[in-house]
Amino acid sequence: MKLIEFSQHFPDEASCKAEFKLYREAQGVVCKKCATKNHYWWLASKGQYECKNCGFRMSLKSGTVMENSKLPYQYWFIAFHLMTSTKKTISALELQRQIGHKYYEPIWAMMHKIRLVMGKRDDQYKLTNEIEADESYYSTRYIQEENEFTGQKEELKRGKGSQRKTGVLVMASQQRKVHSNPTKKKNVFYNAPKFLKMKLVENGTANEIKKTAESIADKQVRVKTDKAKSYPKAFENFKKLEMFDMSKFDSGKVLPWVSKAITNSKNLLKAIHHAIEGKYLQNYLNEFCYKYNRRYFGDKVFNRLLICAVSQVWY
Ligand SMILES: [Zn+2]
Repeated sequence: MKLIEFSQHFPDEASCKAEFKLYREAQGVVCKKCATKNHYWWLASKGQYECKNCGFRMSLKSGTVMENSKLPYQYWFIAFHLMTSTKKTISALELQRQIGHKYYEPIWAMMHKIRLVMGKRDDQYKLTNEIEADESYYSTRYIQEENEFTGQKEELKRGKGSQRKTGVLVMASQQRKVHSNPTKKKNVFYNAPKFLKMKLVENGTANEIKKTAESIADKQVRVKTDKAKSYPKAFENFKKLEMFDMSKFDSGKVLPWVSKAITNSKNLLKAIHHAIEGKYLQNYLNEFCYKYNRRYFGDKVFNRLLICAVSQVWY
């Protein structure tokens, strides 16, 4: 959606609230007490739903991503719009400036809640067919603890186990596509990326990678990856495992989609958000994957995100 269309559709708080209510009811209002679906009165004067079955009342925001949020609907809608329409993304500081809100913290928290629902939505899909897999270490901010008696700062480890590096398992599925060239007699197939997943693997052990990989990919997949020691065990339950020695192969050719996704996500995080704390990295990766996986959706991404926002499934 272009900025001009967005401002025409949602000029004020009332229009955003009305759209939110419409989407919520289309997804189905579920009573938080007795779980009865779509059996309620809307009490307009109170702005609440009342369950026809048990009489329980809940607000319009209750049970959704906006639960407990004091921010106006319009702020959320602006965030949905800017987080889905910008090619890269927007920082909380920039969004705070654009909205003109006094405090940074609530805007920052709102964006993280949105990233959480983006991740939960993508968690509903599993990777299938042929996939690429690799691990990468992301630079993250780490606050060194001080010894309360000596005042000495905790020592930082170097390399892979450094507190300033956070491990991420990156997996991408491929799809076969056909070149639509009517002059060619034979169909020409090529591989294109389909769905991307990025998950924190903090310790990077074979067991941790295994558990993570099996939670995001179907066991019937064929996995292509590099020759890391932990991989034969980590990927043992998948249908096929192909490991390439990266001293002999170019990772950009063997694992093109995960290599690109790693480079692009690192550049993006560095450029927009600067130093991220390790514990929040997953949320930023959720946003990156959510947008990547819907890169051909165009304007529809906004509506898709609104569906996630009203969904009660996750709360
Ligand atoms: Zn009820």
